[in-house]
Amino acid sequence: MKFGAFVYEPEKAEGFDLHLLRVKLETGDRIPPVQDMYSNIAVFADNAAVRSHPDWISQSPLGPARMGNNNFNIYWSVVCATQPEHRAEQLDYMEDVDRHSLGVWLNSQYFADHGHCTCPRCKERWKKSGLSWFEWRRKEVTDYIAQIRERVKKDLVMSIQPDPITACERYGVDFDDFAKYADAFNVVMFSKNYATPWYWEMLARGFKKLLKKPVYISLYVFGPGDTAKDVSSASELLTVSVRCARAGIDGILYLATGASQLKDFQKAAVDKVELRQRLKSYGGQPVQEVLDLVKSWEKIVE
Ligand SMILES: [Zn+2]
Repeated sequence: MKFGAFVYEPEKAEGFDLHLLRVKLETGDRIPPVQDMYSNIAVFADNAAVRSHPDWISQSPLGPARMGNNNFNIYWSVVCATQPEHRAEQLDYMEDVDRHSLGVWLNSQYFADHGHCTCPRCKERWKKSGLSWFEWRRKEVTDYIAQIRERVKKDLVMSIQPDPITACERYGVDFDDFAKYADAFNVVMFSKNYATPWYWEMLARGFKKLLKKPVYISLYVFGPGDTAKDVSSASELLTVSVRCARAGIDGILYLATGASQLKDFQKAAVDKVELRQRLKSYGGQPVQEVLDLVKSWEKIVE
């Protein structure tokens, strides 16, 4: 298994195999990529693009993909996934970011949610295609991923929502289509509470069965604006890590504001001596690898 640091600040945290930097956020804010880190890019979720071009927003019978439209799990304003200028600009951007880092991990590289997009351009493209609604959306998304693959020469990783069943109906995402172009998947399992690890373990197991490329998962440690009370304890994070590891996944990334917040987590994890001992009985080799990782942190948190 590989273990990664998934951060907002361009500093590599000690004690991880790979480093993923959020170079473009769903707010539209961008920071420069770093040569020896991977780059995470939010593609269509982009508040800034929608602010500059209000008519680019993705439309649906339940209203636009605007932050605050509670018909959907949408926390950002999302651009229509067929918007040609945004698509072209993002392709150029991805190519440039790829050249200046280790590769590109994408977020929101698909439709906003179910029922999207019904803007006049999408309605016309759907009608012209002769395909069913779901087949048309899938084709739009997959064709764009193929274009991205031509531009990104290094690693290309597809982050996906933690929904193994209705990804096509909601987002136009077909896992087998993605697997043709992606080097790996990253299932985003962010939560500020991992009190019931059973569900996360089940999701990890399900995705490992479905996805035809290596499967990483991302767990939430400590984001911008959080206090210690807002987020999971190190005990919950250790337990959910072990339980997802035994489901056969290929790696775990830990999301935090920066290296210093990850170090706080590493220190708290190292201090859970009894729990680390107990978790040894939770599974075989993959569980041991998580516990070995924590053991390796003993040196760096002293
Ligand atoms: Zn549209």
